[in-house]
Amino acid sequence: MTGAGAPFLPYGRQNIGEAEIAAVTDVLRSDFLTQGDRVPAFEAAICAAVDAPFCVAVNSATSALHMACLALGLGPGRLMWTSPNSFVASANAARMCGADVDFVDIDPATANLSVDALADRLAAAEQDGRLPDVVMVVHFAGEPCDMPGIAALAGRYGFRIIEDASHAMGARVGSRRIGACDYSDITVFSFHPVKIVTTAEGGAATTRDADLAARLERLRSHGITRDPRSMTQAPEGPWVYEQIELGYNYRMTDIQAALGVVQMTRLEAFLTARHALADRYDALLEDLPVTSLTRRGGNRSALHLYVIRVAAAERSRLFAHFRDGGIGVQVHYIPIHTQPYYRALGFQPGQFPEAERHYAEAISLPLHPALRAEDQDRVVAVLREGLDA
Ligand SMILES: *Cc1c(COP(=O)(O)O)cnc(C)c1O
Repeated sequence: MTGAGAPFLPYGRQNIGEAEIAAVTDVLRSDFLTQGDRVPAFEAAICAAVDAPFCVAVNSATSALHMACLALGLGPGRLMWTSPNSFVASANAARMCGADVDFVDIDPATANLSVDALADRLAAAEQDGRLPDVVMVVHFAGEPCDMPGIAALAGRYGFRIIEDASHAMGARVGSRRIGACDYSDITVFSFHPVKIVTTAEGGAATTRDADLAARLERLRSHGITRDPRSMTQAPEGPWVYEQIELGYNYRMTDIQAALGVVQMTRLEAFLTARHALADRYDALLEDLPVTSLTRRGGNRSALHLYVIRVAAAERSRLFAHFRDGGIGVQVHYIPIHTQPYYRALGFQPGQFPEAERHYAEAISLPLHPALRAEDQDRVVAVLREGLDA
């Protein structure tokens, strides 16, 4: 039996060192558990790492996606398109603003939103007179979408772009970082423990637009401004704040940000480890009847996930076989439009066949920086046994 008595191998896991523990402890001993100096320090670290002028850190990527949708004007009567192959939060963000959502099918090679499908849908939507106001792209598994292609379509059809880069901290399009917003209005990152770097719970939005950044900052904290230049009248004292619009409490704590500051110093090491492990999986899987997702040359994936596709008829059995062998495989993702909430809005299975086929065949293998070669060998041995290969 492969793996009997061996430790359970999760598909993703945080990597926390003594420096992170010390940084969090320092905050706990300090005067400010929230609204101190760690959140601005974390935002500065993200700006430096992704080459963006503005960053607003919040309590989750879901919050950041919600604020991004609001900041780009989504609301009742407005329309956002996104990928069906994502976590539900991507589409939900537009619904949280009262906007309509539709989906664009994926390119099976990368499982990212297909630029060809997007171009076709835009041409049809122009005829029908209902073009999207926003397209939210998702860099699935950390592999960048075709951003130059999508930005060219945005130029032609006039939509704004949000990048859901929850998987893609440290990824690059050509030589440029995801998060620099060279091809988008706002980029969002997640710091959930399975993601590239973690703050336990947390998220951030980056932008190159000072007005969007100010709007995001306001939405993070109740729609309140303390900047006299943004107030409706001259403040009668230094205590005055004005609530300009309806906002939220989406703030990140200094405890979380202190953890994030240390994690950001390890970003390159994390990506190097993920790439070495992914290259090793590529080699180990070469002779097996499975397909790995394509990583496009010229870009750098952040390799949040290592997804293989197997015969759909074998997927459930292989999944159970992995779990029986102590391998914590996962499936990314159940197509969003097939969820009961979205079906109640009128979506149906069969509408986005590539995303549905991907889902039927996909298994995410364990991948995180502390995974060892012997762990990988065990994963592949269990797979080989399951495939009877
Ligand atoms: C994890 C994830 C989110 C949500 O992130 P949270 O920080 O948990 O809110 C959104 N989109 C994608 C693609 C994700 O993987």
